[in-house]
Amino acid sequence: MLIELKDINKTYQGVQPLHVLKDISLEVEKGEFLSIRGASGSGKSTLLNVLGILDNYDSGEYRLDGRLIKDLSEREAAEYRNRTIGFIFQSFNLINFKTAVENVELPLFYQGVPRRQRHELAMEYLDRLGLKDRAQHYPNQLSGGQKQRVAIARALITHPQLILADEPTGALDTVTAKEVMNLLRDINRAEQVTMVIVTHDLKVAAETDRTIHIRDGAVVFD
Ligand code: ADP
Ligand code: MG
Repeated sequence: MLIELKDINKTYQGVQPLHVLKDISLEVEKGEFLSIRGASGSGKSTLLNVLGILDNYDSGEYRLDGRLIKDLSEREAAEYRNRTIGFIFQSFNLINFKTAVENVELPLFYQGVPRRQRHELAMEYLDRLGLKDRAQHYPNQLSGGQKQRVAIARALITHPQLILADEPTGALDTVTAKEVMNLLRDINRAEQVTMVIVTHDLKVAAETDRTIHIRDGAVVFD
């Protein structure tokens, strides 16, 4: 089992505390291609952030590849995250003053991989994603679909066990969205990498093997 969530609860504190994740239990096996679907505000991104060790939870247990993810220091969390997880976002989150290839290289830079080696590897991944001729382009010189493919290359380059995608097709037209979903599917099959895709879109969810439906922070259907 890659992901084991047991009775996860989280409340955003504030003037009006918001109980955003309610007793979420979920098991995901290695290699699964799964979506988490729910309306806007249902807690999908919060759940994904917990899975990605970007945010804490209040109670329950989260095990990732057998390891209990609780009360990690910032450094431990970052280290584990960089080694294990790749992220894909709706808004791509590319760095605008870096070229496509420099964006893809970035995770390897943080891992201390020498310049030449990380450049070669990044070019390889861009090539695989059909973007070799766009390597020296800046994000604002790329289409939405191309930007998302750069982001996918960046997510893959560290060989993560898990890819977490938050509305990866949310900013794309229907045709490009379908292409990106096909790409994620191919990568899931070829690399056996587990994919968890958050979406509010029924069509996107229908492309995955399994859908978890959450409503008001609770799993209502699996
Ligand atoms: P989704 O991704 O399904 O749209 P979110 O997980 O982003 O849902 O948000 C769930 C609820 O939690 C929403 O009501 C949102 O306003 C609230 N929320 C999200 N992030 C925070 C935060 N950092 N502080 C307080 N409330 C938040
Ligand atoms: Mg969201």
